[in-house]
Amino acid sequence: MNSKANSSIRCHVSVCKNHCKSQDYCALDSITVGTHETNPTMDQCTDCQSFVK
Ligand code: SF4
Repeated sequence: MNSKANSSIRCHVSVCKNHCKSQDYCALDSITVGTHETNPTMDQCTDCQSFVK
């Protein structure tokens, strides 16, 4: 479990290995955000590519 909250990266994906479990933040210093769409038009088109099961 990683417990260091990065207050610059709020995240609701608590099942991610990189999530700060005690608060609603990521514990990484930085993340990579990408898209699975060729022409993204809404937030659902984007993905955190730093996610770890
Ligand atoms: S790596 Fe991405 S999905 Fe995982 S806790 Fe951090 S921001 Fe959330």
